[in-house]
Amino acid sequence: MSFLSTQIEFLKGVGTARADMLKKELGIFVFSDLLFHFPYRHVDRSNIYKISDIHGDMPYLQLRGKISHFRTIGKSKSERLVADFNDESGKLELVWFQGAKWIRDAIKENKEYMVFGKPTEYNGSINMAHPTVDDPENFDQKKYLRIMPFYTATERMKTKGLDTKALMKLTNSLLNDPKFTIEENLPEELIRSQKLMSRKESLIQIHFPESPEKLAHAEKRLKFEELFFIQLRLLRYKLKRTQLFNGIKLETIGEHFNNFYHNKLPFELTNAQKRVIKEIRADMKSGKQMNRLLQGDVGSGKTVVALMCMLIAIDNGYQSCIMAPTEILAQQHFQTISTLLDDMKVNVKILTGSTPAKERRLIHEGIINGEIDILIGTHALIEQVVQFKNLGFAVIDEQHRFGVEQRAKLWKKNDYPPHVLVMTATPIPRTLAMTLYGDLDTSVINELPAGRKPINTQHRFDNNRLRLLGFMKTEIAKGRQIYIVYPLIKESEKLDYMNLMSGYENVCRDFPEPQYHICMVHGQMKPADKEREMQRFVKGQAHIMVATTVIEVGVNVPNASVMIIESAERFGLSQLHQLRGRVGRGAEQSHCILLTSYKLNADTKLRLNTMCRTNDGFEIAEVDLQLRGPGELEGTQQSGVLDLRIANIAKDQVILQTARNCAQQIIDNDPSLSKPENLKLLNYFTEYSKHNRWGRIS
Ligand code: ADP
Ligand code: MG
Repeated sequence: MSFLSTQIEFLKGVGTARADMLKKELGIFVFSDLLFHFPYRHVDRSNIYKISDIHGDMPYLQLRGKISHFRTIGKSKSERLVADFNDESGKLELVWFQGAKWIRDAIKENKEYMVFGKPTEYNGSINMAHPTVDDPENFDQKKYLRIMPFYTATERMKTKGLDTKALMKLTNSLLNDPKFTIEENLPEELIRSQKLMSRKESLIQIHFPESPEKLAHAEKRLKFEELFFIQLRLLRYKLKRTQLFNGIKLETIGEHFNNFYHNKLPFELTNAQKRVIKEIRADMKSGKQMNRLLQGDVGSGKTVVALMCMLIAIDNGYQSCIMAPTEILAQQHFQTISTLLDDMKVNVKILTGSTPAKERRLIHEGIINGEIDILIGTHALIEQVVQFKNLGFAVIDEQHRFGVEQRAKLWKKNDYPPHVLVMTATPIPRTLAMTLYGDLDTSVINELPAGRKPINTQHRFDNNRLRLLGFMKTEIAKGRQIYIVYPLIKESEKLDYMNLMSGYENVCRDFPEPQYHICMVHGQMKPADKEREMQRFVKGQAHIMVATTVIEVGVNVPNASVMIIESAERFGLSQLHQLRGRVGRGAEQSHCILLTSYKLNADTKLRLNTMCRTNDGFEIAEVDLQLRGPGELEGTQQSGVLDLRIANIAKDQVILQTARNCAQQIIDNDPSLSKPENLKLLNYFTEYSKHNRWGRIS
């Protein structure tokens, strides 16, 4: 057993009680867990400031001087201990809200101390609350007068004295143990070419940096390592899959495809659609199983691409399926595809949670005996009972709502895994896609069908409503329809609901019957009522639809050309973009109006400006990633790959790209990692692959 996998209770200064606490509160079980509990920030203690130089905006800093005049001020709850602190240059107050007795006992007046804390300005004078006070006598200059690490510790830990300082001491004793060693896990050549710090050195420097430069260097190395092994794993996974599984060869372009292409397709394909079909087709006939991610903004025409590939599968005697995340979307696919196929002899069926038992049985039969060519549905498709005769091509729409495991379930439906096409309308920034779907090949439809005009997006303040009314009436007079969307957010549901209702009443007053017809849809309505209201809008019987975000997915009304978003400051960027995608589906010029109050913070302004500036979903996703970080983006929460220790997908894009390239290069040169120069890498990687979390191993 290696030193670093020793149980944490055996570390000097830990013992059973502290070990329990470390395990429960931070998941630190063995030495290496502590080693990989990195500081969340560092503070430069290499400098001693003068009181006359500091002001309230400064970060944590340290001073050297004398403490005097302890006094207690305030009553009961606001009672606090205050003392004066002087150096040659001036004076400030130290304040403690707790622990007065202990502090008075521990601190001697008029003796020299090192004081460390965050200055704040209060009533025109500077004070420092709960400073760390150290005796310069037992203040080991070499050890402490430098960049200090700060560690996460929970409240429970702190009450037992296991705070950031205690963690620092423990880490320090671990690193100084004569038995401490850590193996390098990257090939020498890689370390040289990327100018990386060694593994051991970087782990020392990340905790106790000798200089800001060395800290930066250590961070870079550790981030690189973290991202590199994720990429190596994804690429190995991909390689293995293609080696392991022969794909079904779907070579023939036959009657179904040709008939559809020449006689049924109601429009010319865009160049992007043609290119993507070619890419997919190349995979289908390659003899390797395809796993491809198809990204394309809302309205870019992914459905028809998927359909044409499914027709190729049928031409080769195979079945296809589409799995959608919601019933509405499955229904919409079923309708679209049935209409497009017209009178062609293709048997299309839909299977969802609400399919009646009798019909369900018939569908199950039709699937296993091969009568059904295309099966469209929801999660119901991956249930055990659904057995295909010969599934050749599987489409997963809106992938971000399905996990990797669900994808795998589809593969297992056959002796041979089918070709899998994953479609998403939520553009994912490239680096994020690289991590979330790094084992997939990618195709992008980066072009909208001809004739679509970019949506004109404008930001308006609430008090411009009157002018907006005029604009709405003009659009309605032209025969257009309008959406008005209100936020409805769980935390303020009641208030939002009231806003929606009063908004609806205002619209009804401004657009009175019988000249105008208004419909309304929100989440609290009965499904039947919702459906009826939706249909009124779809059929053009209502001019305006007042709605909450329920319309985000699944509504397609090409005649609607105006989207008005109320309280737009409360929506996230990707949500605004998705909502905007409801218009601009016809040939008419469409408009999106973002209404907000005057009070906007910097992030909100950036969101609104981005929306007004561009219609490009990828650009918007990129800004969203920068603003919110990867963990907050839709669909990434449940994904363990983003559970990163030190790297940040939004901020470390360059390192990520480099790590990906390096991993690819190594896999290309040595697919089995069996060359001698990759021995360390292989050893580490074998352990790494058994664990889910990076760092657990050493
Ligand atoms: P999405 O990529 O959002 O799933 P859809 O596949 O639903 O987009 O297509 C959006 C609309 O555009 C549909 O009404 C579809 O028929 C139409 N469409 C798709 N491709 C083209 C094209 N090349 N030219 C014109 N219209 C197209
Ligand atoms: Mg779609």
